Amino acid sequence: MLRRSLFKKPNLRLEGQENTPPGDRIPVFECPQCRNKQEQPALEESLFLCARCGYHYKITARQRLGMMLDEGSFREMGARIASKDPLQFPGYQEKLKQAREQSGEKEAVITGTGSILGRPCAVFAMEHQFMMGSMGAAVGEKLTRLFERALDKCLPVVGFTVSGGARVQEGILSLMQMAKVSGAVRQHADAGLLYIAVLCDATTGGVAASFAMQADIILAEPGALIGFAGPRVIEQTTRQKLPEGFQRAEFQLDKGFVGKIVKRPEQRALLGLLLKMHTGGKDERV
Ligand SMILES: [Zn+2]
Repeated sequence: MLRRSLFKKPNLRLEGQENTPPGDRIPVFECPQCRNKQEQPALEESLFLCARCGYHYKITARQRLGMMLDEGSFREMGARIASKDPLQFPGYQEKLKQAREQSGEKEAVITGTGSILGRPCAVFAMEHQFMMGSMGAAVGEKLTRLFERALDKCLPVVGFTVSGGARVQEGILSLMQMAKVSGAVRQHADAGLLYIAVLCDATTGGVAASFAMQADIILAEPGALIGFAGPRVIEQTTRQKLPEGFQRAEFQLDKGFVGKIVKRPEQRALLGLLLKMHTGGKDERV
């Protein structure tokens, strides 16, 4: 059964959204790149791309799933799995509470099964409004279970990554998720099953250094920041000026880390085609 909230207009405050004056019902967004202003219906129509410069606005995980999956096909998994505070890290409980209020989600990743253009798949999307999509024990557990389910059901996995990396408040337990999820990805790969990752802005740290880069096919959204340590940290450490566009998707395409950059409105068709190519099927047109 489709979760109604999947297609519901979020009550969340999205990137670039201006304060809507009283009486004015249509929210207006300002592009962070070129300052172009657009009303929400026009932006929704273009899947949250700026009409002037093509900037890809940051969207929520549920918006992304709603755009990519066949309507009504999504079945969520592990919706009740949520991080506790295993190290009793100062202020973490409060941060979790704020993240849940801000994002409307229990954790920084949503997992489940669905279909894209009629092709069944396991799917995950990370939520940037939940502590920058950081990976703690709950995120690792949800992803591991997803790959294990996909292995069990012989399903390909399609994942949308957005993450600041490991969640510092969970210390070593957070870092351990890199190995745990990587193990599940490997088992899935060893069975000959397909994994496609779409790297979105920003995919960094322990997530970039594990399952984001372990996909068979690595796609990226235009302009997405992709890397391990951020440019500022690298500049401060190496004391060298970094080249223009360092760690952006276009830079990583040039360096061979990314297979193809795909604009958001073209992603669903490409994912459907890739799933069809790798899972067989003669019943539909390419
Ligand atoms: Zn713009």
